[in-house]
Amino acid sequence: MFKKILIANRGEIALRIIQACRELGVETVAVHSTADEASLHVTYADEDVCIGPPPPGQSYLNIRSIIAAAEITGAEAVHPGYGFLAENAHFAEVLDECKIGWIGPSAQVIRTMGDKANARRVAVQAGVPVLPGSEEPLASAAEARRLADQVGYPVILKAAAGGGGRGMRIVRDPDEIERNFKTASEEASIAFGDGSMYLEKYLEQPRHIEFQIFADTHGNVLHLGERECSIQRRHQKLLEESPSVVMDAEKREEMGEAAVRLAKAVGYVNAGTIEFLYDQGDFYFMEMNTRIQVEHPVTEMVMGVDLVKEQLRVAAGEPMSFPSGLHPRGHVIECRINAEDPVTFAPSPGRMTTLHLPGGPGIRIDTHAYQEYFVPPNYDSMVAKLLARGRDREEAVARMLRALEFFEIDGIKTTISLHRKILRDPVFRAGDLSTRFMEGFQERQKQLADDG
Ligand code: ADP
Repeated sequence: MFKKILIANRGEIALRIIQACRELGVETVAVHSTADEASLHVTYADEDVCIGPPPPGQSYLNIRSIIAAAEITGAEAVHPGYGFLAENAHFAEVLDECKIGWIGPSAQVIRTMGDKANARRVAVQAGVPVLPGSEEPLASAAEARRLADQVGYPVILKAAAGGGGRGMRIVRDPDEIERNFKTASEEASIAFGDGSMYLEKYLEQPRHIEFQIFADTHGNVLHLGERECSIQRRHQKLLEESPSVVMDAEKREEMGEAAVRLAKAVGYVNAGTIEFLYDQGDFYFMEMNTRIQVEHPVTEMVMGVDLVKEQLRVAAGEPMSFPSGLHPRGHVIECRINAEDPVTFAPSPGRMTTLHLPGGPGIRIDTHAYQEYFVPPNYDSMVAKLLARGRDREEAVARMLRALEFFEIDGIKTTISLHRKILRDPVFRAGDLSTRFMEGFQERQKQLADDG
Protein backbone atom coordinates (compact mmCIF):
# COMPACT_ATOMS: atom_id res chain seq x y z
CA MET A 1 0.00 0.00 0.00
CA PHE A 2 1.03 3.60 -0.56
CA LYS A 3 2.48 5.58 2.34
CA LYS A 4 1.19 8.93 1.15
CA ILE A 5 -1.10 10.13 -1.63
CA LEU A 6 -2.20 13.50 -2.95
CA ILE A 7 -5.86 14.29 -3.56
CA ALA A 8 -6.30 16.48 -6.64
CA ASN A 9 -9.81 17.60 -5.76
CA ARG A 10 -11.96 19.47 -3.25
CA GLY A 11 -15.32 19.24 -1.51
CA GLU A 12 -17.02 16.08 -0.35
CA ILE A 13 -15.06 13.73 -2.63
CA ALA A 14 -11.72 14.98 -1.26
CA LEU A 15 -13.02 14.25 2.26
CA ARG A 16 -14.33 10.84 1.15
CA ILE A 17 -10.86 9.93 -0.13
CA ILE A 18 -9.29 11.13 3.14
CA GLN A 19 -11.68 8.83 5.06
CA ALA A 20 -10.60 5.83 2.98
CA CYS A 21 -6.91 6.71 3.44
CA ARG A 22 -7.33 7.10 7.19
CA GLU A 23 -8.78 3.59 7.44
CA LEU A 24 -5.93 2.17 5.37
CA GLY A 25 -3.23 4.09 7.26
CA VAL A 26 -2.28 6.13 4.19
CA GLU A 27 -1.17 9.74 4.73
CA THR A 28 -2.92 12.42 2.70
CA VAL A 29 -1.95 15.65 1.01
CA ALA A 30 -4.76 18.09 0.25
CA VAL A 31 -4.38 20.74 -2.43
CA HIS A 32 -6.63 23.76 -2.38
CA SER A 33 -7.33 27.12 -3.97
CA THR A 34 -7.40 30.30 -1.91
CA ALA A 35 -11.24 30.04 -1.94
CA ASP A 36 -11.01 26.74 -0.05
CA GLU A 37 -8.59 27.65 2.74
CA ALA A 38 -11.27 26.97 5.37
CA SER A 39 -12.42 23.70 3.79
CA LEU A 40 -12.67 20.46 5.71
CA HIS A 41 -10.49 18.54 3.26
CA VAL A 42 -7.71 20.97 4.18
CA THR A 43 -8.44 20.59 7.90
CA TYR A 44 -8.45 16.79 7.88
CA ALA A 45 -5.60 16.02 5.47
CA ASP A 46 -2.19 15.35 7.02
CA GLU A 47 -0.61 18.02 4.82
CA ASP A 48 -1.96 20.74 2.57
CA VAL A 49 -0.64 22.86 -0.25
CA CYS A 50 -2.23 25.98 -1.72
CA ILE A 51 -2.11 25.62 -5.51
CA GLY A 52 -3.57 28.91 -6.70
CA PRO A 53 -6.44 31.38 -6.87
CA PRO A 54 -10.14 30.43 -7.03
CA PRO A 55 -10.64 29.96 -10.82
CA PRO A 56 -10.28 26.20 -11.44
CA GLY A 57 -7.96 26.78 -14.42
CA GLN A 58 -5.45 28.35 -12.07
CA SER A 59 -5.77 25.83 -9.23
CA TYR A 60 -7.64 22.49 -9.43
CA LEU A 61 -6.90 22.19 -13.16
CA ASN A 62 -3.36 23.49 -12.89
CA ILE A 63 -1.31 20.40 -13.67
CA ARG A 64 2.04 22.07 -13.00
CA SER A 65 1.08 23.23 -9.51
CA ILE A 66 -0.38 19.87 -8.60
CA ILE A 67 2.69 17.95 -9.77
CA ALA A 68 4.91 20.37 -7.84
CA ALA A 69 2.77 19.81 -4.73
CA ALA A 70 3.12 16.03 -5.12
CA GLU A 71 6.89 16.29 -5.57
CA ILE A 72 7.42 18.64 -2.62
CA THR A 73 5.38 16.48 -0.27
CA GLY A 74 6.68 13.14 -1.55
CA ALA A 75 3.22 11.80 -2.45
CA GLU A 76 3.49 8.45 -4.23
CA ALA A 77 0.20 8.64 -6.11
CA VAL A 78 -2.64 10.99 -6.99
CA HIS A 79 -6.35 10.35 -6.53
CA PRO A 80 -8.25 12.66 -8.91
CA GLY A 81 -11.79 12.16 -7.52
CA TYR A 82 -14.42 13.09 -10.13
CA GLY A 83 -14.59 16.19 -12.33
CA PHE A 84 -11.53 18.49 -12.66
CA LEU A 85 -8.63 16.31 -13.92
CA ALA A 86 -10.22 12.90 -13.31
CA GLU A 87 -10.64 12.11 -17.00
CA ASN A 88 -7.64 14.03 -18.29
CA ALA A 89 -5.38 11.52 -20.06
CA HIS A 90 -2.60 14.09 -20.39
CA PHE A 91 -2.49 14.54 -16.60
CA ALA A 92 -2.25 10.76 -16.12
CA GLU A 93 0.64 10.68 -18.62
CA VAL A 94 2.54 13.53 -16.99
CA LEU A 95 2.23 11.81 -13.61
CA ASP A 96 3.57 8.63 -15.14
CA GLU A 97 6.56 10.51 -16.58
CA CYS A 98 7.18 11.98 -13.13
CA LYS A 99 7.01 8.47 -11.61
CA ILE A 100 3.95 9.37 -9.58
CA GLY A 101 1.17 6.80 -9.40
CA TRP A 102 -2.38 7.35 -10.67
CA ILE A 103 -5.40 5.98 -8.87
CA GLY A 104 -7.44 5.16 -11.95
CA PRO A 105 -7.21 3.44 -15.33
CA SER A 106 -4.31 4.02 -17.75
CA ALA A 107 -4.01 7.23 -19.77
CA GLN A 108 -4.59 5.20 -22.90
CA VAL A 109 -7.92 3.82 -21.64
CA ILE A 110 -9.03 7.29 -20.50
CA ARG A 111 -8.29 8.61 -23.98
CA THR A 112 -10.02 5.72 -25.77
CA MET A 113 -13.24 5.97 -23.74
CA GLY A 114 -13.14 9.74 -23.21
CA ASP A 115 -13.90 10.27 -26.88
CA LYS A 116 -17.58 9.30 -26.82
CA ALA A 117 -17.75 8.60 -30.56
CA ASN A 118 -14.77 6.29 -30.24
CA ALA A 119 -16.21 4.61 -27.12
CA ARG A 120 -19.35 3.85 -29.15
CA ARG A 121 -17.20 2.13 -31.78
CA VAL A 122 -15.37 0.10 -29.12
CA ALA A 123 -18.74 -0.99 -27.70
CA VAL A 124 -19.91 -2.15 -31.12
CA GLN A 125 -16.70 -4.15 -31.55
CA ALA A 126 -17.21 -5.75 -28.14
CA GLY A 127 -20.74 -6.78 -29.12
CA VAL A 128 -22.41 -4.38 -26.67
CA PRO A 129 -25.66 -2.92 -28.05
CA VAL A 130 -25.71 0.75 -29.08
CA LEU A 131 -28.49 2.89 -30.55
CA PRO A 132 -28.50 3.27 -34.35
CA GLY A 133 -26.16 6.14 -35.30
CA SER A 134 -22.66 7.14 -36.42
CA GLU A 135 -19.88 4.64 -36.89
CA GLU A 136 -17.33 7.45 -37.26
CA PRO A 137 -17.31 11.11 -36.19
CA LEU A 138 -19.48 13.16 -38.57
CA ALA A 139 -17.35 14.79 -41.28
CA SER A 140 -19.88 17.44 -42.34
CA ALA A 141 -23.37 18.86 -41.89
CA ALA A 142 -24.40 17.06 -45.07
CA GLU A 143 -23.26 13.77 -43.63
CA ALA A 144 -25.20 14.46 -40.42
CA ARG A 145 -28.27 15.03 -42.58
CA ARG A 146 -27.75 11.82 -44.56
CA LEU A 147 -27.26 9.72 -41.46
CA ALA A 148 -30.15 11.30 -39.53
CA ASP A 149 -32.50 10.66 -42.48
CA GLN A 150 -31.36 7.06 -42.45
CA VAL A 151 -31.65 6.56 -38.65
CA GLY A 152 -34.99 8.42 -38.44
CA TYR A 153 -35.98 11.40 -36.29
CA PRO A 154 -35.66 12.38 -33.53
CA VAL A 155 -31.90 12.12 -33.26
CA ILE A 156 -29.44 13.46 -30.70
CA LEU A 157 -26.25 15.21 -31.79
CA LYS A 158 -23.45 14.78 -29.29
CA ALA A 159 -20.00 16.27 -28.90
CA ALA A 160 -17.43 13.46 -28.80
CA ALA A 161 -15.60 15.36 -26.06
CA GLY A 162 -18.78 16.39 -24.20
CA GLY A 163 -19.64 15.66 -20.60
CA GLY A 164 -21.66 16.78 -17.61
CA GLY A 165 -24.81 16.96 -19.73
CA ARG A 166 -23.27 19.56 -22.04
CA GLY A 167 -22.72 19.42 -25.80
CA MET A 168 -25.92 17.61 -26.75
CA ARG A 169 -28.77 18.66 -29.03
CA ILE A 170 -32.01 16.91 -29.84
CA VAL A 171 -33.18 17.33 -33.43
CA ARG A 172 -36.75 16.46 -34.41
CA ASP A 173 -37.03 18.21 -37.74
CA PRO A 174 -34.97 17.17 -40.81
CA ASP A 175 -34.67 20.83 -41.83
CA GLU A 176 -32.96 21.64 -38.52
CA ILE A 177 -30.19 19.07 -38.63
CA GLU A 178 -27.56 20.89 -40.68
CA ARG A 179 -27.92 24.17 -38.78
CA ASN A 180 -27.83 22.33 -35.45
CA PHE A 181 -24.79 20.36 -36.49
CA LYS A 182 -22.89 23.56 -37.27
CA THR A 183 -23.76 25.45 -34.09
CA ALA A 184 -23.31 22.40 -31.85
CA SER A 185 -19.92 21.67 -33.37
CA GLU A 186 -18.81 25.29 -32.97
CA GLU A 187 -20.00 25.29 -29.35
CA ALA A 188 -18.13 22.06 -28.68
CA SER A 189 -14.92 23.52 -30.16
CA ILE A 190 -15.13 26.43 -27.75
CA ALA A 191 -16.26 24.45 -24.70
CA PHE A 192 -14.13 21.31 -25.07
CA GLY A 193 -11.46 22.31 -27.59
CA ASP A 194 -12.77 19.63 -29.94
CA GLY A 195 -15.66 20.09 -32.37
CA SER A 196 -16.07 16.39 -33.33
CA MET A 197 -19.71 15.34 -33.32
CA TYR A 198 -21.61 12.08 -33.65
CA LEU A 199 -25.27 11.27 -33.61
CA GLU A 200 -27.60 8.54 -32.51
CA LYS A 201 -31.30 7.84 -32.35
CA TYR A 202 -33.00 9.83 -29.59
CA LEU A 203 -35.22 7.81 -27.27
CA GLU A 204 -38.24 9.71 -25.92
CA GLN A 205 -38.63 8.12 -22.50
CA PRO A 206 -35.67 5.91 -21.63
CA ARG A 207 -34.31 5.14 -18.21
CA HIS A 208 -30.69 5.90 -17.36
CA ILE A 209 -29.26 2.74 -15.81
CA GLU A 210 -25.53 2.46 -15.20
CA PHE A 211 -23.31 -0.36 -14.02
CA GLN A 212 -20.44 -0.05 -11.58
CA ILE A 213 -17.51 -2.08 -12.75
CA PHE A 214 -14.20 -2.82 -11.09
CA ALA A 215 -11.00 -4.42 -12.34
CA ASP A 216 -7.56 -5.09 -10.89
CA THR A 217 -4.13 -5.75 -12.40
CA HIS A 218 -4.45 -9.49 -11.71
CA GLY A 219 -7.04 -10.06 -14.43
CA ASN A 220 -10.15 -9.84 -12.23
CA VAL A 221 -13.03 -7.83 -13.67
CA LEU A 222 -16.50 -7.70 -12.12
CA HIS A 223 -19.62 -5.59 -11.94
CA LEU A 224 -21.32 -4.40 -8.74
CA GLY A 225 -24.84 -4.02 -10.04
CA GLU A 226 -26.72 -1.02 -11.29
CA ARG A 227 -27.73 2.47 -10.27
CA GLU A 228 -30.78 4.05 -11.79
CA CYS A 229 -30.15 7.76 -12.45
CA SER A 230 -33.21 8.70 -14.49
CA ILE A 231 -34.10 11.70 -12.35
CA GLN A 232 -32.13 14.49 -13.99
CA ARG A 233 -32.31 18.18 -14.64
CA ARG A 234 -30.59 19.47 -17.78
CA HIS A 235 -29.19 15.97 -18.33
CA GLN A 236 -27.56 16.13 -14.89
CA LYS A 237 -28.41 13.65 -12.16
CA LEU A 238 -30.43 14.76 -9.13
CA LEU A 239 -31.44 11.51 -7.44
CA GLU A 240 -30.09 7.98 -7.86
CA GLU A 241 -31.20 4.61 -6.54
CA SER A 242 -30.35 0.94 -6.51
CA PRO A 243 -31.71 -1.54 -7.34
CA SER A 244 -33.65 -0.18 -10.30
CA VAL A 245 -37.30 -1.18 -10.11
CA VAL A 246 -37.09 -2.62 -13.63
CA MET A 247 -34.19 -4.92 -12.84
CA ASP A 248 -34.32 -8.57 -11.90
CA ALA A 249 -31.39 -10.92 -11.29
CA GLU A 250 -31.44 -12.16 -14.88
CA LYS A 251 -31.47 -8.72 -16.51
CA ARG A 252 -28.79 -7.55 -14.06
CA GLU A 253 -26.57 -10.40 -15.13
CA GLU A 254 -27.18 -9.72 -18.80
CA MET A 255 -26.40 -6.00 -18.56
CA GLY A 256 -23.60 -6.53 -16.03
CA GLU A 257 -22.01 -9.11 -18.30
CA ALA A 258 -22.12 -6.63 -21.22
CA ALA A 259 -20.47 -3.99 -19.00
CA VAL A 260 -17.75 -6.45 -17.95
CA ARG A 261 -17.18 -7.47 -21.58
CA LEU A 262 -16.61 -3.85 -22.54
CA ALA A 263 -14.28 -3.27 -19.58
CA LYS A 264 -12.25 -6.32 -20.59
CA ALA A 265 -12.16 -5.23 -24.24
CA VAL A 266 -10.33 -2.00 -23.32
CA GLY A 267 -8.10 -3.54 -20.64
CA TYR A 268 -9.79 -1.55 -17.90
CA VAL A 269 -8.29 -1.30 -14.41
CA ASN A 270 -9.77 0.33 -11.28
CA ALA A 271 -13.31 1.69 -10.77
CA GLY A 272 -15.44 2.68 -13.74
CA THR A 273 -19.04 3.13 -14.78
CA ILE A 274 -20.76 1.98 -17.94
CA GLU A 275 -23.86 4.03 -18.66
CA PHE A 276 -26.79 2.57 -20.57
CA LEU A 277 -30.13 3.83 -21.77
CA TYR A 278 -32.84 1.30 -21.00
CA ASP A 279 -36.06 1.20 -22.96
CA GLN A 280 -38.74 -1.49 -22.68
CA GLY A 281 -36.41 -4.30 -21.81
CA ASP A 282 -33.66 -3.31 -24.25
CA PHE A 283 -30.46 -1.52 -23.30
CA TYR A 284 -27.94 0.54 -25.23
CA PHE A 285 -24.42 1.65 -24.32
CA MET A 286 -24.23 5.42 -23.88
CA GLU A 287 -20.82 6.19 -22.43
CA MET A 288 -18.16 5.10 -19.97
CA ASN A 289 -16.90 7.18 -17.07
CA THR A 290 -13.32 6.20 -16.31
CA ARG A 291 -13.33 7.32 -12.67
CA ILE A 292 -15.24 7.13 -9.41
CA GLN A 293 -18.75 8.62 -9.75
CA VAL A 294 -20.55 11.11 -7.53
CA GLU A 295 -23.18 8.43 -6.84
CA HIS A 296 -20.73 5.66 -5.88
CA PRO A 297 -22.04 5.54 -2.25
CA VAL A 298 -25.33 4.09 -3.57
CA THR A 299 -23.40 0.99 -4.62
CA GLU A 300 -21.32 1.03 -1.43
CA MET A 301 -24.44 0.95 0.73
CA VAL A 302 -26.49 -1.53 -1.25
CA MET A 303 -23.58 -3.92 -1.83
CA GLY A 304 -21.79 -3.40 1.47
CA VAL A 305 -18.42 -2.47 -0.06
CA ASP A 306 -15.93 0.40 0.08
CA LEU A 307 -15.11 1.40 -3.48
CA VAL A 308 -12.59 4.10 -2.62
CA LYS A 309 -10.46 1.85 -0.42
CA GLU A 310 -10.61 -0.73 -3.18
CA GLN A 311 -9.39 1.89 -5.69
CA LEU A 312 -6.32 2.45 -3.54
CA ARG A 313 -5.65 -1.28 -3.16
CA VAL A 314 -5.90 -1.89 -6.88
CA ALA A 315 -3.74 1.13 -7.76
CA ALA A 316 -1.11 -0.19 -5.35
CA GLY A 317 -1.06 -3.45 -7.33
CA GLU A 318 -3.02 -5.58 -4.89
CA PRO A 319 -5.83 -7.88 -6.03
CA MET A 320 -9.30 -6.58 -5.28
CA SER A 321 -10.82 -7.85 -2.08
CA PHE A 322 -14.56 -7.88 -2.72
CA PRO A 323 -16.41 -10.79 -1.18
CA SER A 324 -17.78 -13.22 -3.75
CA GLY A 325 -21.46 -13.54 -4.61
CA LEU A 326 -22.29 -9.87 -4.16
CA HIS A 327 -25.85 -8.82 -4.73
CA PRO A 328 -27.94 -5.87 -3.62
CA ARG A 329 -29.35 -5.97 -0.09
CA GLY A 330 -32.35 -3.73 0.50
CA HIS A 331 -32.80 -0.49 -1.35
CA VAL A 332 -30.73 2.70 -1.39
CA ILE A 333 -31.63 6.21 -2.58
CA GLU A 334 -29.27 9.17 -2.90
CA CYS A 335 -30.40 12.81 -3.10
CA ARG A 336 -27.92 15.40 -4.31
CA ILE A 337 -28.24 18.49 -2.14
CA ASN A 338 -27.13 21.43 -4.27
CA ALA A 339 -26.71 25.07 -3.30
CA GLU A 340 -29.22 26.26 -5.85
CA ASP A 341 -32.74 27.52 -6.28
CA PRO A 342 -35.03 24.46 -6.13
CA VAL A 343 -37.22 25.76 -8.97
CA THR A 344 -34.91 27.60 -11.39
CA PHE A 345 -31.73 25.69 -10.46
CA ALA A 346 -29.81 29.00 -10.40
CA PRO A 347 -26.69 28.66 -8.18
CA SER A 348 -27.03 30.02 -4.64
CA PRO A 349 -23.56 30.46 -3.16
CA GLY A 350 -23.07 32.08 0.25
CA ARG A 351 -22.75 31.35 3.96
CA MET A 352 -24.65 28.52 5.63
CA THR A 353 -25.86 30.23 8.77
CA THR A 354 -27.58 27.08 10.01
CA LEU A 355 -26.60 23.52 9.25
CA HIS A 356 -28.29 20.63 10.93
CA LEU A 357 -27.51 17.18 9.53
CA PRO A 358 -29.96 14.31 9.99
CA GLY A 359 -28.86 10.88 11.22
CA GLY A 360 -30.56 7.77 12.50
CA PRO A 361 -31.01 4.28 11.07
CA GLY A 362 -30.02 3.76 7.44
CA ILE A 363 -28.74 7.29 6.79
CA ARG A 364 -25.39 8.31 5.32
CA ILE A 365 -24.29 11.84 4.51
CA ASP A 366 -21.22 12.70 2.48
CA THR A 367 -20.53 16.40 2.84
CA HIS A 368 -17.80 18.94 3.32
CA ALA A 369 -20.22 21.48 4.77
CA TYR A 370 -20.31 22.74 8.36
CA GLN A 371 -22.13 25.45 10.25
CA GLU A 372 -20.92 28.84 8.93
CA TYR A 373 -19.36 27.19 5.86
CA PHE A 374 -19.20 29.60 2.93
CA VAL A 375 -20.18 27.96 -0.39
CA PRO A 376 -17.86 29.59 -2.92
CA PRO A 377 -19.35 30.64 -6.27
CA ASN A 378 -16.45 29.19 -8.24
CA TYR A 379 -17.25 25.48 -8.19
CA ASP A 380 -19.94 22.84 -8.57
CA SER A 381 -23.02 23.59 -6.49
CA MET A 382 -23.31 20.21 -4.75
CA VAL A 383 -22.90 20.62 -0.98
CA ALA A 384 -24.01 17.20 0.28
CA LYS A 385 -25.15 13.75 -0.73
CA LEU A 386 -27.87 12.32 1.47
CA LEU A 387 -28.36 8.56 1.30
CA ALA A 388 -31.04 6.37 2.83
CA ARG A 389 -31.12 2.60 2.94
CA GLY A 390 -34.17 0.51 3.75
CA ARG A 391 -35.26 -3.12 3.61
CA ASP A 392 -37.16 -2.23 0.47
CA ARG A 393 -37.88 0.85 -1.66
CA GLU A 394 -40.76 1.89 0.54
CA GLU A 395 -38.66 1.93 3.69
CA ALA A 396 -35.82 3.73 1.90
CA VAL A 397 -38.31 6.41 0.76
CA ALA A 398 -39.74 6.78 4.28
CA ARG A 399 -36.26 7.13 5.75
CA MET A 400 -35.21 9.62 3.09
CA LEU A 401 -38.31 11.73 3.66
CA ARG A 402 -37.71 11.68 7.40
CA ALA A 403 -34.05 12.64 6.93
CA LEU A 404 -34.98 15.45 4.53
CA GLU A 405 -37.41 16.81 7.14
CA PHE A 406 -34.60 16.91 9.71
CA PHE A 407 -32.05 18.38 7.29
CA GLU A 408 -31.81 22.12 7.84
CA ILE A 409 -29.72 24.60 5.91
CA ASP A 410 -30.25 28.34 6.23
CA GLY A 411 -28.49 31.24 4.53
CA ILE A 412 -28.51 29.73 1.03
CA LYS A 413 -31.11 28.04 -1.17
CA THR A 414 -30.85 24.28 -1.60
CA THR A 415 -32.58 21.39 -3.35
CA ILE A 416 -33.77 19.86 -0.04
CA SER A 417 -37.37 21.02 -0.54
CA LEU A 418 -37.34 19.79 -4.15
CA HIS A 419 -36.31 16.30 -3.05
CA ARG A 420 -39.13 16.22 -0.48
CA LYS A 421 -41.59 16.90 -3.29
CA ILE A 422 -40.04 14.33 -5.62
CA LEU A 423 -40.20 11.66 -2.91
CA ARG A 424 -43.90 12.39 -2.34
CA ASP A 425 -44.72 12.42 -6.04
CA PRO A 426 -47.09 9.54 -7.00
CA VAL A 427 -45.24 8.82 -10.26
CA PHE A 428 -41.92 8.56 -8.39
CA ARG A 429 -43.56 6.34 -5.78
CA ALA A 430 -44.87 4.06 -8.51
CA GLY A 431 -41.29 3.77 -9.84
CA ASP A 432 -42.52 4.99 -13.20
CA LEU A 433 -39.28 6.77 -14.12
CA SER A 434 -37.65 8.06 -17.27
CA THR A 435 -35.04 10.71 -18.05
CA ARG A 436 -37.99 13.02 -18.82
CA PHE A 437 -39.38 12.51 -15.28
CA MET A 438 -38.69 16.10 -14.18
CA GLU A 439 -40.76 17.58 -17.01
CA GLY A 440 -43.87 15.67 -15.92
CA PHE A 441 -43.07 16.34 -12.28
CA GLN A 442 -42.91 20.10 -12.83
CA GLU A 443 -46.29 19.95 -14.61
CA ARG A 444 -47.80 18.06 -11.68
CA GLN A 445 -46.35 20.58 -9.22
CA LYS A 446 -47.86 23.45 -11.19
CA GLN A 447 -51.21 21.69 -11.17
CA LEU A 448 -50.97 21.18 -7.39
CA ALA A 449 -50.16 24.89 -6.90
CA ASP A 450 -53.06 25.92 -9.15
CA ASP A 451 -55.47 23.60 -7.33
CA GLY A 452 -54.24 24.72 -3.93
P1 ADP B 1 -22.72 13.32 -20.60
O1 ADP B 1 -21.40 12.75 -21.04
O2 ADP B 1 -22.79 14.79 -20.82
O3 ADP B 1 -23.15 12.88 -19.25
P2 ADP B 1 -24.40 11.27 -21.83
O4 ADP B 1 -24.09 10.81 -23.20
O5 ADP B 1 -24.01 10.40 -20.69
O6 ADP B 1 -23.80 12.75 -21.65
O7 ADP B 1 -25.96 11.59 -21.70
C1 ADP B 1 -26.49 12.25 -20.58
C2 ADP B 1 -28.01 12.17 -20.59
O8 ADP B 1 -28.54 12.64 -21.84
C3 ADP B 1 -28.58 10.78 -20.44
O9 ADP B 1 -28.66 10.35 -19.11
C4 ADP B 1 -29.95 10.96 -21.07
O10 ADP B 1 -30.83 11.63 -20.18
C5 ADP B 1 -29.68 11.90 -22.23
N1 ADP B 1 -29.39 11.15 -23.48
C6 ADP B 1 -28.19 10.88 -24.01
N2 ADP B 1 -28.31 10.17 -25.17
C7 ADP B 1 -29.62 9.97 -25.37
C8 ADP B 1 -30.40 9.30 -26.39
N3 ADP B 1 -29.83 8.70 -27.42
N4 ADP B 1 -31.76 9.29 -26.25
C9 ADP B 1 -32.34 9.90 -25.19
N5 ADP B 1 -31.67 10.54 -24.21
C10 ADP B 1 -30.33 10.59 -24.29
